[in-house]
Amino acid sequence: MYNGTGASSGIGIGKAVIVEDVQLVITRQEVADTGSEVQRFKGALDQAILDTERLAEDLATRVGEKEAEIMQGHMMLLGDPMLTGEIENAIKNEKVNSEFAIENVCNMYADMFASMGDELMQQRATDMRDIKTRMQKILMGIQSVDISALPEGSIIVAKDLTPSMTAGINPANVTGIVTELGGRTSHSAILARALEIPAVVAVGGVMDNVKDGDSIVLDGTTGEVFVNPEAAVKAQYEEKREQFLKEKKELEQYIGKPSVTKDGVQVEIVANIGKPEDVDKVLQYDGEGIGLFRTEFLFMDRNAMPTEEEQFEAYKKVAVAMNGKPVIIRTLDIGGDKEIPYMGLEKDENPFLGYRAIRFCLDRKEDIYKPQLRALLRASAFGNIRIMIPLVTCIDEYREARALVEELKAELDGKGIAYKKDIQVGIMVETAAASLIADIFAKEADFFSIGTNDLTQYTMSVDRGNKKISYLYSTFNPAVLRSIRHIIACGRAEGIMVGMCGEAASDPMMIPLLLAFGLNEFSMSASAILKARKMVTEYSVEELKAVADKAMSFATTAEVEQYMREFVEKR
Ligand code: PEP
Ligand code: MG
Repeated sequence: MYNGTGASSGIGIGKAVIVEDVQLVITRQEVADTGSEVQRFKGALDQAILDTERLAEDLATRVGEKEAEIMQGHMMLLGDPMLTGEIENAIKNEKVNSEFAIENVCNMYADMFASMGDELMQQRATDMRDIKTRMQKILMGIQSVDISALPEGSIIVAKDLTPSMTAGINPANVTGIVTELGGRTSHSAILARALEIPAVVAVGGVMDNVKDGDSIVLDGTTGEVFVNPEAAVKAQYEEKREQFLKEKKELEQYIGKPSVTKDGVQVEIVANIGKPEDVDKVLQYDGEGIGLFRTEFLFMDRNAMPTEEEQFEAYKKVAVAMNGKPVIIRTLDIGGDKEIPYMGLEKDENPFLGYRAIRFCLDRKEDIYKPQLRALLRASAFGNIRIMIPLVTCIDEYREARALVEELKAELDGKGIAYKKDIQVGIMVETAAASLIADIFAKEADFFSIGTNDLTQYTMSVDRGNKKISYLYSTFNPAVLRSIRHIIACGRAEGIMVGMCGEAASDPMMIPLLLAFGLNEFSMSASAILKARKMVTEYSVEELKAVADKAMSFATTAEVEQYMREFVEKR
């Protein structure tokens, strides 16, 4: 059995199809007539643009606009005059063939993106290599693997899948994807989720050990991959697959139902989003609002800051679509590991403890924070927007941000511009410091949302992305649990809403504890909403209090996890 990262849930069972992208051999050749070589390059470029356009259109109709955007990103690269100009210059000045010029120029950019370290730039590097090979193959007359014509029941096994290869997959024939590289947030993983094909990525060594036609079983939730499993394993996973599909269908009955426990405690189950378009899925899965809009995504994947106007449009779109339901929008949470190249931030020695989020915004009030807050206030005239401040550690930061909101309100009043007068300004409780003084914060902040992704990292002093120490990264650690319980109690004592928007909010083993602690709002990815609602309706808070007391009595993470696992499985 291999273990990778579950990237798209569901069970895949089928026959391996090894997709080895042809390794192109690019050699340097002198060309005498550089003029006609440039024409040859331009012909290939036009063809590549046409192919990509077709792929984008196909994706837009088969999958969705958002997924087609990835191909539109490729179009932007192909249409970038700086890139194509440099290739033309290389052909002319160095008198070399197009394939070689493309190889050098594109690799130079791809290496530059890759060296920037963050995930987004890694993706740009992959995109650059993808368009490079597409142009070279056209020039060399090489057909790509026709991934759209694979036999039914295929499991694609590849070193890595480029977004364009993934986009070409026909979900009717492909029942799973296994790759040696990639991460949960790589573009191909996003596409796999959109196509609802079970996928496991980052499976070390799988390419050396799987042959075409091998029988494969994979679990896109747990990240398990079996190669030529025994009949019993296969049967077990066939059952799991049936169960998964049945459950998915059954959950639809929770659309339109209230999120209320057996003993009448009402909670809100809301969604985390990164872009205005994500609202479609939130409505599809009946989210009761937005608990976290990560606005940094509006600032990424571009070469200049979005203007106040662009931001206003984006926030307004979400507020209008949610039609009066709460929409919690988090102000910019960048810096540290989330780099935005055009902002020219220096690399921090210790990114997670560095110049980021509210620290950065309060230092860049005029050019960054005020335009964002003004856009949020203006958009609040169109719906139930609430402002959320990330990574606060002391009350001064909250007061300074709040004062800024008040200043901007006065400015809008002066100009007669509408906004929601009683707009709430809350905080993410995600640092150890904020948790320890949650009682102080609760007296001033309008609401709390617990960010367990960071709270766990800062409480345990464990980098949330470091595999070597991931055994320490658990929300079930007694220290983290006490922190969560304390934050909820402090918020509730002051009568403010306490939500959670970290990954723990949708964890089936965590939900009973959160209900017992008195959490009001659970925010998660849209596709997790109905399952969470089902769980809520099956519990009574009174019954869960004893369970939580017991869970809190253990000294180790392992004991808490085992206890909660048994509790959930017994039901
Ligand atoms: C968190 O820290 O739990 C959170 C929701 O925010 P992010 O994952 O964006 O840091
Ligand atoms: Mg966070």
